[in-house]
Amino acid sequence: MADFDIASYVAHIEANRAAKDALMQKLRARRPPHRITVTDLTNLKQAYFRRKYPEITPPLEKQQLMWAGTGFHKVFGAAVSSEEYLEQFVEIEGIVGKIDIYEEIPIEVKTTSTTVSPKGLLKYRQTYIEQLGMYCAMVNISQGKIIIYQRQDQEAPQAPLSAYHVTFPNLEAIRDEMRRRRDLLIHALISNDPSNLPVCSWLDRGCDYSEVCDCRTASVPLSYEIAELAGQIQFDDVTCQQLLSKVAVPQPSSRFRMNDAVFPRKAYFERLKSAETTLDEEESLQKKQDYLRAMDEFGFLDALRESLQYGAPGEVRSIPVQCASLSDLVRVHQGLPTILRAPKFQSLVERQRLAWAFPHYFLRLGFECALTERPKGRLLLYYAKVDKEDTKLMVYDVSFGSLNALKSEALRRVELLETASSPFDLPKCPAWMCRNCEYRLECGEA
Ligand code: SF4
Repeated sequence: MADFDIASYVAHIEANRAAKDALMQKLRARRPPHRITVTDLTNLKQAYFRRKYPEITPPLEKQQLMWAGTGFHKVFGAAVSSEEYLEQFVEIEGIVGKIDIYEEIPIEVKTTSTTVSPKGLLKYRQTYIEQLGMYCAMVNISQGKIIIYQRQDQEAPQAPLSAYHVTFPNLEAIRDEMRRRRDLLIHALISNDPSNLPVCSWLDRGCDYSEVCDCRTASVPLSYEIAELAGQIQFDDVTCQQLLSKVAVPQPSSRFRMNDAVFPRKAYFERLKSAETTLDEEESLQKKQDYLRAMDEFGFLDALRESLQYGAPGEVRSIPVQCASLSDLVRVHQGLPTILRAPKFQSLVERQRLAWAFPHYFLRLGFECALTERPKGRLLLYYAKVDKEDTKLMVYDVSFGSLNALKSEALRRVELLETASSPFDLPKCPAWMCRNCEYRLECGEA
């Protein structure tokens, strides 16, 4: 099957500096919190400087880690629980917090790239325990759970999820410590003097406030009184298994989505597989691990999108598209169909090479433009692995040559998907996808 050469339909690519600057500003902007949060109480020094120096913002490299974490826990929470239990706001005595999942007991969801053992949790992740302890004290429940998603290392694969059950036998002592920390912070803020706040664990580890902080001369040592108030910390395999059993890999819908037109061969296999009888245990676990990885990537993009706030009221609309058996929503920003992607490249791709380096992004944007009858679309590329801050985000306005031809190609692919009796009837995916694709054997790509 001859490849559809999307590059030949790209008429013009313009790097939109004005849009990029506006989005970068949103990305970097940070409002100092108005209220004292549980997170503040895990690091009083940073809580103080966050308020006193709102103009100091963390580098994007650090924000990326936060987006990855918050993005994952949202998507994961939605997969294993339901809306009424997610991100539950709690408050006591002027301290506020948000519990990731709170059905019967508080559950905190964390992500990490380094291995955490049960012993390591108390030694190296005291703030996880402190946070959970405070939530437990706030809702007066003497136990909670910490769920950790371990990003997979290709060299040394391990269980993707681990769960810990933690008890807090003395909630009143935790509340006392919370009050003490809250009062210390308020007093420091009023007196403009942070010297009575304990030094923080970020000293010498790339703290954002190292230029203004007094940690080097401060005399109050770092301590974790709340973590020390934890009772039993137990690895909880039952919860892990229960959570994994709740992670239901989504089944392809009966309608075709825009993505199916971009990757029709993959869509063909996914439909075929979902129609087959049950998977064996190993296949099912592998599917779930792949899905957790997808949640991690999707969560990152979602949190990034939220930080970019290109969803400000009036600026963004979602337009429904329905054509033959293809239906989807197209996100339109300032009148242009807009997609956000985070390529894993270590360096920026030159404008002239973009359509060859990322044909799938251009196919997607081209199909969105053609199906909404707009000759121009916007591609936002966020290069997480590029070091230079100013080049991490690139904004391109892309004009397409023949919308009719693009629309016909999208519909041809969907029609092929409906009638194909072999994967070889369908266009291939980009070559880089084949390496890790579960269908590569059937696809002749092994
Ligand atoms: S092996 Fe490659 S072409 Fe085949 S379905 Fe997987 S990604 Fe697509």
